[in-house]
Amino acid sequence: LLDALADMGALAIERVRLVEDLDRAERAAETDRLRQALLTSISHDLRTPLASVLGAASTLRDLDADLAPEAKADLLATIIAESERLNRFIANLLDMTRLEAGAVAPNLAPQDVAETVDTALRRVEAVLADHRVAVDLASDLPVLRLDPVLFEQVLFNLLDNAAKYAPAGSTVTVRGRREGAFVRLDILDEGDGLPEADVERVFDKFYRVRKSDRVRAGTGLGLAIARGFVEAMRGTVTAANRRDRGGAVFTVTLPVPARIAPKDIAA
Ligand code: ADP
Repeated sequence: LLDALADMGALAIERVRLVEDLDRAERAAETDRLRQALLTSISHDLRTPLASVLGAASTLRDLDADLAPEAKADLLATIIAESERLNRFIANLLDMTRLEAGAVAPNLAPQDVAETVDTALRRVEAVLADHRVAVDLASDLPVLRLDPVLFEQVLFNLLDNAAKYAPAGSTVTVRGRREGAFVRLDILDEGDGLPEADVERVFDKFYRVRKSDRVRAGTGLGLAIARGFVEAMRGTVTAANRRDRGGAVFTVTLPVPARIAPKDIAA
């Protein structure tokens, strides 16, 4: 009987091993599939703007004498815009790689939220040129310990999206409130909002809600980077739809430090 039990035990262990091996093989295949999809997506995002640059530059070279000045100006504008898009994409890829390598070490220092929001808004003035911007920050916002470079990048990515996905002439609102141990910042727009099923997925790398979003100057990395940067500062960022009207709302929460020494504020 003991021998029989030992045999059964050995068989059971063997089965567990087999199932584990299968699991591992499936996981490896899934990782491989994801890596392939990622490479295809990155190649596409690099080649599309590059093709436009090459096309415009070749036309300029081959047809130089026959081109009207406006046509030349258009081609040059294409070259510059598409090169900027490539630049942005590569900068985003680098940020993403740094995040995934755990190489983003925030440089936390006491920052006035209102001032930092103001600076970020000045930086995105050009992208928000066709929108109305409403800033609604409570007057009692505490000083936070933030990395101003990361924080500005987060706001930039969220405001840039609001500008891209909400129609010209609509209002983009930046609201800031203190909520207990957190400061809550909401970026509200009046665009189409997000399908409910996508409110979490938009933070995935390269995820886009609509196929047509790929055509706009996006990289699909902005929100993944925003989340990585916010989490590096011990905050959270989530997406939702506005209840009052159409449009998306992105909410950033950041912890209020227990105590900031007066010398830090003076610094
Ligand atoms: P992208 O470079 O494509 O904008 P993001 O990571 O910033 O990449 O955003 C991912 C996707 O989430 C976008 O492609 C878009 O489909 C959706 N999205 C982001 N912000 C908004 C918004 N304010 N309104 C509607 N959809 C949005």
